[in-house]
Amino acid sequence: AKEQGRNRFNYFTPSMQEYAKYRMRLIQDLRQAVTNKEFELHYQPIVALATGEVTKAEALIRWHHCERGAVPPSEFIPVAEDTGLIVEIGNWVFEQAARQSAAWRHGLGVDIQISVNKSPIQFRDEGTLLNDWLKLLQELNITGAGVCVEITEGLLLDASMGVTEKLLAYRDAGVQVSLDDFGTGYSSLAYLKKFDIDYLKIDQSFTRNVDTDKNDQILCEAIIVMAHKLGMKVIAEGVETEAQRQVLLAAGCDYGQGYLFSRPIPASEFTQQYLQCRSL
Ligand code: C2E
Ligand code: CA
Ligand code: CA
Ligand code: CA
Repeated sequence: AKEQGRNRFNYFTPSMQEYAKYRMRLIQDLRQAVTNKEFELHYQPIVALATGEVTKAEALIRWHHCERGAVPPSEFIPVAEDTGLIVEIGNWVFEQAARQSAAWRHGLGVDIQISVNKSPIQFRDEGTLLNDWLKLLQELNITGAGVCVEITEGLLLDASMGVTEKLLAYRDAGVQVSLDDFGTGYSSLAYLKKFDIDYLKIDQSFTRNVDTDKNDQILCEAIIVMAHKLGMKVIAEGVETEAQRQVLLAAGCDYGQGYLFSRPIPASEFTQQYLQCRSL
């Protein structure tokens, strides 16, 4: 009976102690995963709304745990950030994405700009890695906007990380910058003009009901007009239906990303779906 009680307890309300154990295990496994390179990048097309053309993709990390199966990034990225492992993971992501962009350019003759996500922690700790990356881009001969970096609004508020200098260094190497999850954070409008940002990504919480909720539609329209006036292009995240696509297109949105077009898929599938016919 005691055993049963414990099991029940485990299943329904894991105690703090259980959580701490789970977390320790996750950290251990994550270290292993970094060493053994258990990660893979999936690519989700970013689609020009007016033409349907695909010239960009977002790289999203996938971790296949040998026992647990797929562990979602929402579960392990925060742990990776807390432990600093995100620096090494982020390094791998960047290199992998750059190599993929180069392979598509030099192998198939198509330019697909790949976006990689960067948490503020990565930004803070990357230090000299930045120079290594910029060198890598040169080596791979993809300095012309083959890679884009997605940052979040919170980062722009933190003056302590040398954000300005780092963003400038990216820019010098031809790396573009997207502001991810726009509208969910500090919405630091003043920073939009201070930093040279190329793309603004409207968060899914605005696109979800854009076709049915007048207020969401008004907000999206206003964001798009503002972004364009500030010289940015707009990408709507989480586009799932044709109705959403229509409203966003009518509002002047440049790009869409979401399940309507495709889920994130492995590079080989991306090549097959979007690039093969183009290279012929
Ligand atoms: P994000 O950067 O906002 O990425 C978009 C997320 O929305 C992805 O979840 C993607 O699979 C999902 N998504 C795309 N289209 C749709 C749609 O139409 N409907 C819905 N419901 N969802 C859609 P994912 O891959 O689970 O990643 C979650 C978050 O984990 C990302 O949010 C990002 O913050 C973080 N992440 C993923 N890969 C990396 C990475 O390599 N480095 C870092 N630092 N963070 C990453
Ligand atoms: Ca992103
Ligand atoms: Ca996002
Ligand atoms: Ca700009």
